Formats: sequence, C-alpha cells, structure tokens
Amino acid sequence: MKYTSLSSYLKSKYGEKYFKLALSCAVTCPNRDGVCGDKGCIFCSLKGSGDFAQSALLDIDTQIERAKDLVKRKNENDKYIAYFQAFTSTYGDIDYLRESFYKTIKRDDIAILSIATRPDCLNDKIIELIKEMNSIKPVWVELGLQSVHETTAQYIRRGYKTEVYFEAVRKLKEIGVHVITHVILGLPNETKEMMIETVRQTGKVTDGIKLQLLHVLKGTDLEKEYADGKFEVLSLEEYSDILCECISVLPENVVVHRLTGDGEKNTLIAPLWTKDKKRVLNYINHKIATYEK
Ligand code: SF4
Repeated sequence: MKYTSLSSYLKSKYGEKYFKLALSCAVTCPNRDGVCGDKGCIFCSLKGSGDFAQSALLDIDTQIERAKDLVKRKNENDKYIAYFQAFTSTYGDIDYLRESFYKTIKRDDIAILSIATRPDCLNDKIIELIKEMNSIKPVWVELGLQSVHETTAQYIRRGYKTEVYFEAVRKLKEIGVHVITHVILGLPNETKEMMIETVRQTGKVTDGIKLQLLHVLKGTDLEKEYADGKFEVLSLEEYSDILCECISVLPENVVVHRLTGDGEKNTLIAPLWTKDKKRVLNYINHKIATYEK
C-alpha cells in the first residue's frame, strides 16, 4: 500500500531529510492548571507527553545543542526540525512565546518550527504569532485530537469538543501552516471502526497525521483503569491490522508522520512488545507493504 512517509515528504519538498529536536517551552496545559481540568488527559505522563523533550529549565540554545548531540551521529546535514513537544506549547505569555520561537527559528540549523498544542489554545494573538513565524520559515502545528468521538473525548478527559479541532484546522490552514493531527489507536471502548472513522474524518482536513498506539504509563489514571481490568491493550498483530486499515482511508497526500510511537521505557506498563522498536517497525512496514484491502 502506498502512503506518504515523513522522510519522502521532506525529501521531495526540501530535498533532504531533517531530524527532530524535542524541546520544551516553560508552559503548562489548561487541562492541568484548572482552566478546563486539573487532572490532565487520562493517558498523559507527568512530563506532559513530552517524555523525550529537553527540560524547559534550560535556555533554548542549550536545549537545541543537547538535543542535537543525541542525533548528531545519524544526521547527514546540520538542519533540524525544532519540535516544541511538552505540554501545550501555545499556552503561555505571548511575549515569552514570541521570544522562544524567534530564538529558535532564527538559528541557521533550524529548518522547520513544529509546535504541539491543543486546538482550544489558538486565540487570535497566537494565530498572528504563528503566521509571523511562518513568514520566516515553515511552521508545523501539531494538534492533539486523539479521537473524533465525543464519548472517547469525555473518557480521556480531553476537555474540548471535536468541532473545536475542525475550526482550529480551518484557521491554521488559512494562514498556510502544515497541520499535523495526533490520533491514538487502541483507546478504551473504541472499536476498530471508530478508529478508522477518526482517521477518515481527519484525513479530509489535515496535512499530516501521527498515528500512535495507546501506551499505559506509570503514574497515570489510565494505569489504574488498566490494573482494574477495565480494558485491554492491543497486540502487535491487532495494531498493525488497524493501522493498515486506517492508512488505507487516508488521502495519499496526507503525510504520515508517525506509525506508532515510543513510551518511555522506564515508565511503560503496557503494551511491553513496543519496547522492541526494531522488530515492531519491521513487522508494521512489512504489513503495510503487503496490505491488500
Ligand atoms: S492536553 Fe496534552 S499536555 Fe495537556 S493533559 Fe492532555 S495530553 Fe497532557
């Protein structure tokens, strides 16, 4: 089955591949500070789903240099995607955000600025700021949707309605940024058809998608639900099957930025088969290559 991978997209659009540097702004999230919730999404780690990101206690340049050290050996050029991953990277003082984004985007080694956020954290000032950045270098905005189904949104305590996501995509596309949608496969109480429906609906509007397997992490409320036997996690075979069906409903121009995802090894409770990343990717890639509807 054919699909547009991130590396083929980067090569065709920019002529080369860029590695990602996972960074943090000193921000929190409205789903944690009490504005729309104080417990966070049910699956979210204490690091605000930024388990691999550099610490926000470090200044931006130090974060970038440290993140570069981690990928230097694999990298063929000195160009990177600066990815503000942890918490909600548009949820902060506008001047602070402007300074952080400017410092990042002005560096010669940064080719693309990627900002992870929630669709309900994109007010007019933020949209203006993103537009400003996008006039300097390409900006990607990553939206944590996870599912289009309201029952699931309530269960995971997402804290906003699905229509807010569609409105956010519209606003972002109006200013010409590349929108990436985060979707989790394997959420409790979701059938395969529900997951495919999420991908079908988002595939109509998004430029890119990150498909991620549900991970149960230590210290989350999801861990308690799992320990109480309220749901089961997917096996590698089930996940690959659902993944193939999801990709098959995506328009070919939608860039698949991620086929699975990593849970931090020290805090991962389930599914443990994901720890063998090489085996998982080989299996998934083979399934996709041989998939027939
Ligand atoms: S919106 Fe993001 S950072 Fe906030 S609780 Fe949910 S997953 Fe975590």
